Amino acid sequence: MIPLDEAQAHVRSRCPSPVVESVPLTGALGLVLAEDVVSAEDVPPFANTAMDGFAVRAGDTAGAPVCLAVVGTIAAGAAPDVAVGEGEAVRIMTGAPMPPGADAVVMVERTRVLDDGAGEQVEVEVEVPVGNHVRQAGEDLLAGQLVLAAGIPLVPGRIGVLASVNRSEVRAFRRPRVGVVSTGDELVADGSALAPGQIRDSNRPGLLALVAESGFIPVDLGLVPDREDAIEAALRDGVAGCDAVLTTGGVSMGDFDYVKVVLDRIGDMRWMQVAIRPAKPLAFGTVDGVPVFGLPGNPVSSMVSFELFARPALRAMAGHADVERRRIRAVAATAMPRRPDGKTHFARVVLDESDGAVRVSSSGGQGSHQLTAMAGADGLAVLPDGDGVAAGDQVEVLLLR
Ligand code: AMP
Ligand code: MG
Repeated sequence: MIPLDEAQAHVRSRCPSPVVESVPLTGALGLVLAEDVVSAEDVPPFANTAMDGFAVRAGDTAGAPVCLAVVGTIAAGAAPDVAVGEGEAVRIMTGAPMPPGADAVVMVERTRVLDDGAGEQVEVEVEVPVGNHVRQAGEDLLAGQLVLAAGIPLVPGRIGVLASVNRSEVRAFRRPRVGVVSTGDELVADGSALAPGQIRDSNRPGLLALVAESGFIPVDLGLVPDREDAIEAALRDGVAGCDAVLTTGGVSMGDFDYVKVVLDRIGDMRWMQVAIRPAKPLAFGTVDGVPVFGLPGNPVSSMVSFELFARPALRAMAGHADVERRRIRAVAATAMPRRPDGKTHFARVVLDESDGAVRVSSSGGQGSHQLTAMAGADGLAVLPDGDGVAAGDQVEVLLLR
């Protein structure tokens, strides 16, 4: 058996570097920016009002209440066609440009409109300082300013910022296309009644969902039987159209574990026994330069293996500097016993943060076939080789969400 970090480092070292491409901003969510973006213009582009109200000269509000003559109206989107002179005000809507002469805005709630027949007047109830409710040009971003630096993940707010500086395309690292194939003669995926010995294919839908949730493009490569020719065809199809391929099953010690056999023949592979439980067997290598992860067949193992090996490597291929799930320290709410076996165990746990401290407890049956406990888990408690932890002990938890 080899230590987990050695297996992870091996996988990472064999994965290709991220690829840069131009992408439309509308498709850039979750990608990593591959260029420094400098603003070509001020944001906001002009001084404007933050409130519906009246644009005034601040000095005219001294000694409020005061009455000012209303000399015009400016809507958002309109160019100002009227100036504010001494003793005057212009009705103005949020986002509209400040008219020449005005240096402050009085919100509409602090005003009262009067019309005595001699023209519209506004009574201003409050004295306001210069700049009141005015958003200055460039207050968010100045032309020439670095807006976002290369390497940053494009979260929704950053997509908005890029649009605010008129970027409709950006240079970003390509989103990896990740193919998923299930292998096993016992698997059924067409909804038909189970014949003796058959089970449902749960790995493929689960892994395709993990791929999508991780921000990659899932590609369904189907279900193949335990036959070398079928496995080879699926793999060749996968590496031709994907940036990485995940297989499940067929990498253990069984008589019909042909994934390993095929990968050995057509790829540059390493078959590893990693000192972890679940997910001890891992076949990893490249076929035609494309990384192939031969994940174990047991449903929990395939997901844990994805989390520990595939997700970090694929995130690195997508240009992320930060590839690991967050790890926290928590308190074991109940004992989590185990036996010494030379492996690190990853127990499926739920988090309880109700009383300030973070407490964890088992999310259910811990067998590698018991997917419901994985489905309900917030994290994986890391139990180093030994006898496990007692209730009240500190335990490290790898967060899954
Ligand atoms: P294997 O690694 O092929 O020996 O499979 C290990 C265990 O995982 C066996 O009990 C398989 O039936 C089960 N298994 C393999 N592939 C899947 C799958 N796609 N969905 C659900 N269970 C699977
Ligand atoms: Mg199998």
